[in-house]
Amino acid sequence: MRNDILSADFTTQPYWTDGLAPFAEIPPPSARHVEVAVIGGGFAGLSAALTLARAGRGVTVFEATTIGSGAAARAAGSLGHVPKASLSELEALYGRSAALAAYTEAREAKEFVADLIREYQIACGLKVVNRFIAAHSPRAFERQRKSLPSLQATMGAVELVSREHQRDQVGSDAFFGGIRIAGAATLQPALLQRGIATAAQAAGASIRQNTPVTDVRQNGARFEIETPGGSFSADHVLLAINAEVRFGPRRFRDLARRLVVIPAYGLATEEVEPEMMSRVLPIGGPVSDTYKIINYIAPSDNGRRFIISGRAGRSEGGLEQKAERMFGYFAERFPDLRGIKVSHCWAGRFAVTSDWVPHMGLDEGVHYVLGCCGTGIPMSTWLGHRVALKIMKQDDKNSAFDRPLPAMSFTAARNALLPLMVRAYALRDRLFR
Ligand SMILES: Cc1cc2nc3c(=O)[nH]c(=O)nc-3n(C[C@H](O)[C@H](O)[C@H](O)COP(=O)(O)OP(=O)(O)OC[C@H]3O[C@@H](n4cnc5c(N)ncnc54)[C@H](O)[C@@H]3O)c2cc1C
Repeated sequence: MRNDILSADFTTQPYWTDGLAPFAEIPPPSARHVEVAVIGGGFAGLSAALTLARAGRGVTVFEATTIGSGAAARAAGSLGHVPKASLSELEALYGRSAALAAYTEAREAKEFVADLIREYQIACGLKVVNRFIAAHSPRAFERQRKSLPSLQATMGAVELVSREHQRDQVGSDAFFGGIRIAGAATLQPALLQRGIATAAQAAGASIRQNTPVTDVRQNGARFEIETPGGSFSADHVLLAINAEVRFGPRRFRDLARRLVVIPAYGLATEEVEPEMMSRVLPIGGPVSDTYKIINYIAPSDNGRRFIISGRAGRSEGGLEQKAERMFGYFAERFPDLRGIKVSHCWAGRFAVTSDWVPHMGLDEGVHYVLGCCGTGIPMSTWLGHRVALKIMKQDDKNSAFDRPLPAMSFTAARNALLPLMVRAYALRDRLFR
């Protein structure tokens, strides 16, 4: 039975790839030795390939599927500049200066992506906007109030908005105030990924689509890379497969155990009138809540649809049910949304680390960028670039995210027990209102 919030042309493909032609790869050279082998053609892998290729290095990206099928084109489109871990969480783990460095670098990451978009004229609908983080409870608002000085020190222009004034930001009375952050951004992620791939290819990188890497072995100073299409050798290897690492070569199973894979969902509504858009989102940019696994709503790249991402409930269900739950969360809080239909709902997954920040590092000679924690648009793109500099020994300073992937502190980290961890966060969000 079809759910009555779905439009007649409802699809389970991402809205971002509607009508997008397949990525045209330039036929790769026949050589079987590559200077740098990049495993994974998401934001991290492609960004690394671009930096390496423009420095004249030989680089080949091995992508298991096609450019546009992975998590990159399934993101909600938020180009954020705030890590998922709070400043105090990072401070408790790594000390004040490392925590501040991570927050500063996260802003640099966002600027890096914006500069890349401008430099390569990537038409991906980048919009710099204000973002509202709506407190889901009075205690959450109190926490925002208390952390305002450190938020301002690390995020720039951050303003506390009381419940009485939140209507200027959101078409809802359901929240308890919130903070307004200047300089957030949204974009069309599939077009960004396509743009970086095109730039990397034009700079001389090879991109081999439909080429999963099945094994990586060290052979003296070199690495042997196995694919169904035969083997390759490489001087350097970058593993940039994020959540897919648990399905990747066995050699990386230890890294996989340090990540938890979170299923995530996105949806797009049918087109609405501009006046409806500004009634629901007067702020003109994204709105999310204060849960750890956030609910997020934003205008699409052309400003005509709502893009929603968030929790989709614990029971399995199909994408129709996920759409109903995610849309229902916002329709309950934003009365003007009622009656609007959902046209797209899609699934994806991303990897989370125990400290809720992404990492770059080295595992037995293999470089990696893993654990984007749902901030991969800025962070994977940035860390891909940073790893490329490290490979070329051109990094003048260490990244704040260049530290080994920490082990998971409890057994629920095993992917088989993932629902426990997701439920634990959902429970924590409910309990610590
Ligand atoms: C629903 C949803 C909403 C999200 N919203 C946002 C958002 O608004 N903002 C944000 O910043 N992030 C968001 N994210 C997260 C973001 O999509 C990811 O963080 C980002 O794509 C990570 O980039 P990556 O390059 O590290 O990995 P991916 O984009 O996952 O790329 C990895 C690539 O490796 C390939 N691969 C896997 N195994 C192999 C193999 N063995 N050999 C070769 N290739 C392989 C995969 O096919 C894939 O293309 C969202 C994710 C989802 C699912």
